[in-house]
Amino acid sequence: KVRVRFAPSPTGHLHIGGARSALFNYLFARHHGGDFIVRIEDTDRKRNVESAEEKLIESLRWFGTEWDEGIDKDGGVGPYRCMDRLDIYTKYLNQLVEEGKAYPCYCNEDELAAEREAMVEKGETPHYNGKCRHLTQEQIEAYKAEGRTSSIRFSVPADHEYVVRDRIRGVVTFESNGMGDFVIARPDGIPTYNFAVAVDDHLMGITHVIRGEEHLSNTPRQLAVYEAFGFETPEFAHVALILNPNHKKMSKRDESIIQFMEQYRHLGYLPEALMNFLVLLGWSPEGEEEIFTKEQMIEQFSLERVSKSPSVFDIHKLNWMNNHYIKQTPTSRMVDLCIPHMQQAGQLPEQITAEQREWVERLVALHQEKLNYAAEIVDYAALFFEEEVSYNEEAKEVLSGEQVPDVMKAFVDEIMGAEDYSADAVKAALKAVQKTTGQKGKNLFMPVRVATTGLMHGSDLNESLYLLGRDKVAARVRNLIE
Ligand code: GLU
Repeated sequence: KVRVRFAPSPTGHLHIGGARSALFNYLFARHHGGDFIVRIEDTDRKRNVESAEEKLIESLRWFGTEWDEGIDKDGGVGPYRCMDRLDIYTKYLNQLVEEGKAYPCYCNEDELAAEREAMVEKGETPHYNGKCRHLTQEQIEAYKAEGRTSSIRFSVPADHEYVVRDRIRGVVTFESNGMGDFVIARPDGIPTYNFAVAVDDHLMGITHVIRGEEHLSNTPRQLAVYEAFGFETPEFAHVALILNPNHKKMSKRDESIIQFMEQYRHLGYLPEALMNFLVLLGWSPEGEEEIFTKEQMIEQFSLERVSKSPSVFDIHKLNWMNNHYIKQTPTSRMVDLCIPHMQQAGQLPEQITAEQREWVERLVALHQEKLNYAAEIVDYAALFFEEEVSYNEEAKEVLSGEQVPDVMKAFVDEIMGAEDYSADAVKAALKAVQKTTGQKGKNLFMPVRVATTGLMHGSDLNESLYLLGRDKVAARVRNLIE
């Protein structure tokens, strides 16, 4: 049975690259009727960030890659947080030391740094020289007497090849010479990632390791651990990088791209649109169609169609896709997403009345076709809240038309005289103005639109003027003719 995992470290927010890895694992698992596991890899405690675990989980849950096993769902092979598995690691670490496949190393930071420097000077790739590999009992006692602590290093066999048969990259071979005996446990007894990941993947019955390409170079170390224990190795699939819009590798502080799922969520992107967008960063469907439901992705996903070459993040495409999904989303859901942005912009109070919500509902409905993401509503809504409309040159040109004063005056009279104020009333008023002034088409509608909104183009005029409200419309028009 297929069992795959997503194993984030709680070092920050869920990155788009991480989300894509989670997605590929999820789709692969569902496609094969297997299990998807989420494991928290938190043994590198220096890098852990407070509350990152909670936020990762929240982002993943929002994203929609439901897992079968994880810190909140026991599948019998837990715990699913590495720091809760220390007893397990200790047992395996001891086994390797007993079998002579790993050994305590007493070198301190200064010695290691000096050694590295010397190797670099000689033009070698720095790696541990194996100094502590064959310490005598006396030497060990002497180090201990000095008060030194020891880490545990894996004894890498000489002249050995580690072959990764990668489902995406093909066969990748690594030489053991020059790898250096790597640390598998720090002096506090906590294992390093390369050790823990191999033990965990084995004990959790992981059949396929699907993860970012940045981990390919770690794979030989993990293979070494597998081999030392005689574990069967899982299949590997290393997914190529996502490049930023400038076709460059992303750095942590890269500002050419929004990197974290939480930020997309806050801007009002829809998780299903992000999922559809992210699946296409690396995977390509057989046909031309680019819009997929989750079920269709599950049905069609395969590692064979995951590309070896990096993909470029295109925000325009994401916006296009999100807009596509927004257009099909019930307005009430969009209203929920838009309201917080309007509140934050001061367009709405903290507590909104049923009447205000109804107004927002119509505002959102009027602009839903145009929204790329929910936060954009603030810009569209701005004109409804401005005290004064500002007119650019083009607008002034329209408003300088000969017919404008007559049209304006007639229009104010009509709407002020209307019994009820509604989109229909606005429509009727415009019709009446047409009759009384003899103006029609552009000569009639443009000045009204420009006078009330400052815009040359916009959404449906009747509905916009209804949403603006009778008093504001009248004030803006009067302002121009008085
Ligand atoms: N904990 C690793 C990371 O966050 C994942 C490594 C793996 O998938 O093997 O990058």
